[in-house]
Amino acid sequence: MGSIGPQRARSLLFLFLLAVPARCQQAQPSNSPPASLFSQSAAEILRRDFAKGETSYLLLDAKTGAVLANRWDNPEKAVPMGSLVKPFTALAYAQAHDFRYPIYECRGKLNGCWQPRPHGKLDITAAVSVSCNAYFRHLAEGVTLEQLRPVVLTFGLEFPDGESTSATLFGLGDQWRISPMHLAEAYLELNRRKNQPGVARILAGMRQSAQRGTGAAVDRQLKRAKALVKTGTAPCTHSPWAPADGLVIALVPEDQPEILLFVRIHGVAGAKAAETAGQMLREMEE
Ligand SMILES: [Zn+2]
Repeated sequence: MGSIGPQRARSLLFLFLLAVPARCQQAQPSNSPPASLFSQSAAEILRRDFAKGETSYLLLDAKTGAVLANRWDNPEKAVPMGSLVKPFTALAYAQAHDFRYPIYECRGKLNGCWQPRPHGKLDITAAVSVSCNAYFRHLAEGVTLEQLRPVVLTFGLEFPDGESTSATLFGLGDQWRISPMHLAEAYLELNRRKNQPGVARILAGMRQSAQRGTGAAVDRQLKRAKALVKTGTAPCTHSPWAPADGLVIALVPEDQPEILLFVRIHGVAGAKAAETAGQMLREMEE
């Protein structure tokens, strides 16, 4: 037991030699996507099946931040991001309030939530999961632009307009415009900081979103992996115009993300965009 015969040793050496050139290729510095088989096929799948007029997407390597696929006109141009800003406003709140998040009861339409039916009593994790506007309106009223500043700087985001209100800080309107590329990188940074105060409960909300919140369409599609998801619905910036654009950011797999997928679908809500993101991820998984 344990000793390797000459035949076996030769075949191991052969396998090793086969593996070496592939590794060398991977190590080459270049602006093109790294030569991992998974990422190449993923980019190919997206191009083949999802390059439709109403769909924009960015696919990033979650570890290196390398762009693996990009179908987004001018991804550096800042656009409104709807509820995708909520985790960053939440973190600013936490930093200004001793890392204690509020508990708040959503009464649905009565206090201006997007969902007419009340979400009920929520903590930060549940509020991220269902993207409750009543909760985040309450939270954002406790955050000044000055308190937001360090978070914006840390995560490389654009600043909201000077005349922004608390509604801006939880994603209403178009006064907080962020470049899609910067926002994708900010979510990667959020995940890297998962052990820092205030962050874990936000990421738990993204996990719950994929399980049973506004991002549930993503986990429903995935066969093996689970995701971290945040959805958003933002004012449309396209021509021709639609009432809204649906946004979703998904990191997969949830415990050690390998990829980040950012999808925008013209003319739908965020939960609907999550369905397309889920289909994309399922095809990449196969
Ligand atoms: Zn609500």
